[in-house]
Amino acid sequence: MQTKFVVVLGSIMSGLGKGVVSSSIMKILDMYDFKVLPIKFDGYLNYDCGTMNPYRHGEVFVLDDKGEVDMDFGTYERFLNRSLTSSSSITGGKLFGEIIEKERKGEYLGEDVQVIPHLTNEIQQKVKNFAAKNKLDFVVIEVGGTVGDLENGYFIEAMRQLSLKEQVVFIDVTYIPRLKTVGEQKTKPTQSAFRALMAVGINPDFLICRTDGEMDENIKRKLSMFTSLAEDRIINDPDMDSPYQLPLYLINQKFDRILLHSFDADNKRINLNKLKRWNENVDNIIRKDGKKFTVAVVGKYVELKDSYVSVKEALMHAAGRLSVNLDVKWIESELLERNSPEESLKDVDGVIVPGGFGKRGIEGMISAIKYARENKLPYLGLCLGMQLMTVEFARNACNMKGANSTEFNADTKYNVIDILPSQLSVTQKGGTMRLGSWEMVISDKNSIAFASYGKKSVSERHRHRYELNNKFRSILNKNGLKITATTRDGKLVEIIEWKDGFGVATQAHPELKSRIEQPAPLFLSFLKAVKSRK
Ligand code: GLN
Repeated sequence: MQTKFVVVLGSIMSGLGKGVVSSSIMKILDMYDFKVLPIKFDGYLNYDCGTMNPYRHGEVFVLDDKGEVDMDFGTYERFLNRSLTSSSSITGGKLFGEIIEKERKGEYLGEDVQVIPHLTNEIQQKVKNFAAKNKLDFVVIEVGGTVGDLENGYFIEAMRQLSLKEQVVFIDVTYIPRLKTVGEQKTKPTQSAFRALMAVGINPDFLICRTDGEMDENIKRKLSMFTSLAEDRIINDPDMDSPYQLPLYLINQKFDRILLHSFDADNKRINLNKLKRWNENVDNIIRKDGKKFTVAVVGKYVELKDSYVSVKEALMHAAGRLSVNLDVKWIESELLERNSPEESLKDVDGVIVPGGFGKRGIEGMISAIKYARENKLPYLGLCLGMQLMTVEFARNACNMKGANSTEFNADTKYNVIDILPSQLSVTQKGGTMRLGSWEMVISDKNSIAFASYGKKSVSERHRHRYELNNKFRSILNKNGLKITATTRDGKLVEIIEWKDGFGVATQAHPELKSRIEQPAPLFLSFLKAVKSRK
């Protein structure tokens, strides 16, 4: 089958959930047994988002192949249940870099290099190469940003040009606000947005309308009249309990049938087994009954929920699988530096310290870990959470006063966490951490690690510059901190555990590979411990 393209654009404002819409479309196409992968365009001039602040941009997602990509990739992977590669991520920074490199090599000799056609051709060529290389039936292309932004204009123009030669369907994700004073849903912003797209030569084939609550029928009729789109191409996308509900919601509006009809692919039927399996998993995630358990996530970026989206999703996946009615309490770690940990943690059933960088809030995280260890609360540490579990244990169980990571105190006498030797020669910031998938070997069959994974060799994704200092392994161990997994050569510590109580932490980010269909093993073990706590 010749590859077909679905282009997802966004109007009016950011944050409408274009990533969830794109992922849901991919999931639906996957349920029809089509081979589908995403491409994401991001207009920013960074090469990738590895150097961006999670506070502003949300979580930096890491792929197996070391790619540091936009957090939408996490959504794609969680829906598709597939690991993606960096070739799906096309940023303004990468594109301009390549164009300039080509120009310097003389590949455009005699020409003045322009946005049209050079940049727009380059984009189309990349998309087509990607489709051919992966032998795809469909590519779902999400255009980052909002229509009308200067940054993504050349991507939108490239997609218009692509649609002149290939089968392309355009979907605009838009917003229908409800004016509180009159209690009415308003279509005018979407009418203007539609006209803005027509002005750049694009006639959307579908409108996916974000609303609070169901869209009124007369609103649909009105939009249909103004846009000339049939009413069944104006799709309702209200707030839901879980983003995973959207595929089914779209199917219930016959979006799948109309989409396939647009591509002359009506003859295909949905794979009912896949549909059923997805629905069962989603039902498990949204069902909230039985005793409630609360897990605290103590981090420094908690104000922006997107900063820890993979941690949140991994918790949801595990809770769904174990039928745990889970509440997540997000705690700003600096708060624990001012208040006693009892105040914030007395009602919680488990503690997580996620990844992070920089000194702010570190002591609050350490005091949360101490509280968990002393009060036998289950603890799960992720990357920084493993490093601080080591620091806390060194200070309070091994009598190493002032123990620290050299990231936070370069002069500490007990540098139980220190820079990776391979990082000493690194001078540039972008893409230079220990990144991507690495194997770890679980040495101790009598460990939480082995009980979780059920095998000795496992692979998880990483993103760090510091590690547990091997000089301190034996003293930590002697006092009750077990090292249960390392790299195959034994040089880097990958998982540590408390001898008493449930405490486990890893240098990796297992949350990045957690899927609704395959919850992360360490999250499952952690929630089991939470659930069985008296
Ligand atoms: N800042 C720590 C390091 O670079 C932890 C990184 C992380 O949590 N991803 O090693």
